[in-house]
Amino acid sequence: MDHFLYRNGALHAEDVPVAEIAAAVGTPFYVYSTATLLRHFQLFDEALEGLDHLVCYAMKAASNQAILKTLAKAGAGMDVVSGGEYMRAKAVGVPGDKIVFSGVGKTAAEIRLALEGGIRQFNVESEPEMEVLDATARAMGQVAPITIRVNPDVDARTHAKIATGKSENKFGIPISRAKEVYALAASMPGLDVVGIDVHIGSQLTDLVPFELAYRKVAELTTQLRAEGHDIRRLDLGGGLGIPYARDNQAPPLPSDYGAMVKRTLGHLGCEIEIEPGRLIAGNAGIMVSEVIYVKSGEDRDFLIIDGAMNDLIRPAMYEAYHDIVPVVEPAPGAEQATFDIVGPVCETGDTFARGRQMPAVTAGDLVAFRSAGAYGAVMSSEYNSRPLIPEVLVNGDQFAVIRRRPTFDEMINRDTIPEWL
Ligand SMILES: *Cc1c(COP(=O)(O)O)cnc(C)c1O
Repeated sequence: MDHFLYRNGALHAEDVPVAEIAAAVGTPFYVYSTATLLRHFQLFDEALEGLDHLVCYAMKAASNQAILKTLAKAGAGMDVVSGGEYMRAKAVGVPGDKIVFSGVGKTAAEIRLALEGGIRQFNVESEPEMEVLDATARAMGQVAPITIRVNPDVDARTHAKIATGKSENKFGIPISRAKEVYALAASMPGLDVVGIDVHIGSQLTDLVPFELAYRKVAELTTQLRAEGHDIRRLDLGGGLGIPYARDNQAPPLPSDYGAMVKRTLGHLGCEIEIEPGRLIAGNAGIMVSEVIYVKSGEDRDFLIIDGAMNDLIRPAMYEAYHDIVPVVEPAPGAEQATFDIVGPVCETGDTFARGRQMPAVTAGDLVAFRSAGAYGAVMSSEYNSRPLIPEVLVNGDQFAVIRRRPTFDEMINRDTIPEWL
């Protein structure tokens, strides 16, 4: 569910007409709904009610400071994957004991940063990382709380680029080697082993792979406890998918997911952490773009819009589908058209949709990409020297620019020409 609906013939973001935002900030831009962000966070929080739990928003999905502050004020913890994300979380006042640090390549500098500022736990992904963490913590006179990310070797049945739980993926340690790796961790005085971490992939539309992985985690918890490890926290990762197409089979709800977590892990008496990203931010944002030209090709019509692959890379990168709808509500029975929807970037990969049937639109019309809140703005670039597009946050009938579009001068002046030129 989201808060981007047609009202009086016009697409609204909560109570604000999208066209009004376009007039104020220019196109293309992202706009997010506070109500949708909060609703999705609360759905997860409620789904785990009755368990000692913390929902840590995986901020790589959408990490604007205003989005982070919205969620932090609601009580969310944060899952960070870099020193930059750690600093973003701290900058909106998230206490260290609500930040978990994930990722396969944490550097010693990033580890120091998090130990200095405070951290709930590091989700460790390899033995070499464990050694660096142990040495760094000891040098700072600290003991670092850790979980070890295990790779359960289950097929998440999602796009290959976002599957992380198979043995051939770079993530975690093989679950078959867990016993020896936990023993090694326990022997390191700079580490406090608090639990187990697992994250098998993103955009999962079925609970079965989660359940297979979590059953393995339950079994491992029992085994490790028998070995003398005080396993008291389970980090279950993120990955629950969202409906991208209106006619799609709906993915499981957070409440279904929560019930499954309780069924498979509830008896262990562990504190439960989850790290949802996409499900919190995905349907809480849209990207709005203006049609520049309708170009008639030999056998097809191209809708050329002012948004491009540098602004929203998911279709080019993951063959992702986004609903693309006119901002002016089409009249019932309005004329339909079929377009290849493309951006201005000089690559054939700059294609958002091929042969897409949609209500007829023309030059100057606004279109909205639904479900663009996650892995949208955060993955954008200035390829083709197209300045990063603005982000806007709506709350009821008010909206604010939460990241403005840089000017051409600002973009150019980030470069430095050496003296000798
Ligand atoms: C990306 C990621 C997440 C969030 O995944 P979503 O599919 O956006 O929910 C959570 N945990 C880890 C370790 C990740 O890498």
